[in-house]
Amino acid sequence: MNERKALDEGAKMTELERIRHSAAHVMATAILRLWPDAQFASGPAVENGFYYDVELSHRISPEDFPAIEAEMKKEIKANHTFEKVVVTREQAMKDAQSGRLGGLVERPGNPSKFKIGNLESIPEGERITYCKNGDFIDLCEWSPQHVMRTGNIGAFKLTTVASAYYKGDEKNPQLQRIYGTAFKNKTQLEEYFKMIEEAKKRDHRKIGQEMGLFTIDTEYVGPGLPLWLPKGTAICEELEKLAKETEFAAGYVLVKTPHIAREKMYKTSGHLPYYAESMFPPMEMLEEDKKRKESLRAAINVNAELLEKSRERDPDGEEHSQLMLRREELQNQPQTLGSRYYLKAMNCPHHHRIFAAEPRSYRHLPLRLAEYGTCYRYEQSGELFGLMRVRSLNMNDAHIYCTAEQFAAEFNAVNEMYLKYFKIFGIEKYQMRFSTSAPDGMGKKYVNEPALWKQTEDMVRRVLVESKINFVEVPNEAAFYGPKIDVQVWSVIGREFTLATNQVDFAVPARFGLVYRDKDNTDKTPLCIHRAPLGTHERFIGFLVEHYAGNFPLWLAPEQVRVLTIGEETPLVDYAKKVVAELRSNMVRAEGDYGTDKINGKIQRAEEAKVHTMLVIGGRDMDAGAVSVRVHSKGNLGAKPKGEAIAGILQAIKERST
Ligand SMILES: [Zn+2]
Ligand SMILES: [Zn+2]
Repeated sequence: MNERKALDEGAKMTELERIRHSAAHVMATAILRLWPDAQFASGPAVENGFYYDVELSHRISPEDFPAIEAEMKKEIKANHTFEKVVVTREQAMKDAQSGRLGGLVERPGNPSKFKIGNLESIPEGERITYCKNGDFIDLCEWSPQHVMRTGNIGAFKLTTVASAYYKGDEKNPQLQRIYGTAFKNKTQLEEYFKMIEEAKKRDHRKIGQEMGLFTIDTEYVGPGLPLWLPKGTAICEELEKLAKETEFAAGYVLVKTPHIAREKMYKTSGHLPYYAESMFPPMEMLEEDKKRKESLRAAINVNAELLEKSRERDPDGEEHSQLMLRREELQNQPQTLGSRYYLKAMNCPHHHRIFAAEPRSYRHLPLRLAEYGTCYRYEQSGELFGLMRVRSLNMNDAHIYCTAEQFAAEFNAVNEMYLKYFKIFGIEKYQMRFSTSAPDGMGKKYVNEPALWKQTEDMVRRVLVESKINFVEVPNEAAFYGPKIDVQVWSVIGREFTLATNQVDFAVPARFGLVYRDKDNTDKTPLCIHRAPLGTHERFIGFLVEHYAGNFPLWLAPEQVRVLTIGEETPLVDYAKKVVAELRSNMVRAEGDYGTDKINGKIQRAEEAKVHTMLVIGGRDMDAGAVSVRVHSKGNLGAKPKGEAIAGILQAIKERST
């Protein structure tokens, strides 16, 4: 279900979310004025707005929106307070039976059936509260999730209507889900819709197809498994190059690991059974297991025969005792090593085994293992979305194993790396969401190590504060094994993306038995920082397509340079080909367009393909050893000596200038 904000999370709601949740109450009020028999289920604030699920014989369509909005305006103008009413369970049940709950008046013969269902799912003994505005009474957990008065809802608009099952279960009745959005004021609302329009034009699926970056071949490859086409691969490669250079300079070492591992790996890491739903189902290697059992049985039989003979020959002899040892060894061998393999959903367990592969001492730490690792996650098919939600992910992953003393410096360096990347990509707005634990979740939601939690959270908080990085702290949203930091970035048009997650892990290294020998000659467990500043290729390139509207800076552009000839005479084409060859020998992604069509047509074609730089060559350019430079969306920059133009291109690529 899409109810991102569970009721008990109200305390954490932002002002905007309170406005939106309150607007859902007002929308229900308005719908009841128009259709008094409407039955409401639940109406939370969600990303970018709110919705309310309603059952109604009338099929609501966008044509009804103006009428609903007009009623909403009346309710806002009336400026009713959102009142809290505490009731007993019996009273609530009575109000639901009479149709009063989720209604404006009692509705005999039309009980509030979904509210009855909602009531029943409130645990016995828990407080039951209503939220009342004007005549409308709704069942609503009372934490500060409403604004004071209906008049505090600044500006709103209904957006779409979809269908949804009650409580997300297809066995339940199908309801109409009416979406809207609300903001503090009209200007913000208008800006939002402008951004949505712009985002549509910049949709990574549309531009990705036009530019030939990726394709999703559902029939042969599978949903959520993008194929990177040559132009998209060029971007992936540039991002990897950037990551590798940056990480190399920061003391990381590269590793490579397989895409699968045995079940034991994920049982040890704790992914199984808790995370099983997000993993692809296992591959059962039954043959392998059968063969293993058979060969073990055969070896035991052979050993038994030999033992028999050697006992007859000399029961106290050396041969006999060797065979006895061998028998014990065979009998102690496990019948099976586990015949299940899983596609990896994370790279960490493999990296942990690399840590474990060699004896480590404090001198080896920090150890920073980096890999552009491919992971596979079984996202629900309804959740898949272009490159933003996929089932195969190329991750800019690394795991830093360090001592507690080294933690602050390491964590700080990770943050510095983020800031460096933000600068390269022109990301001006970002926020780190620091998710911490909560005392009452110890041993349930969080691994039961209160002292370690506190120590780690204090360390992370101190680094964030001292480095003056923009962050917010969100209690009770940490991962099971440690605090995490989600990095939110905003594209140039103001849309928010979750780019990456950092995690501090003080539990899993211990589960894998990872240790290093410390100065005092004792074995200690290292801390592990999981970090992936560039996230995954899939999500990050999806973001970049929107951010740049497909007009990538020179260093990232899939086709960096196109050489165009004015005419098709042989000497001219030969000269142009030499320019292309020189660029390509310098690893510049350059192509040529030497055809017969007019130069304007060629230029237009290159513009449409979002080629970054065009070098136009006519007879006069050739005679002067020059090229005329055109840069996408900047127009004609004039003629330059060939060598100078090429040097300029190489320099801009090297500097990764925007
Ligand atoms: Zn409410
Ligand atoms: Zn990890």
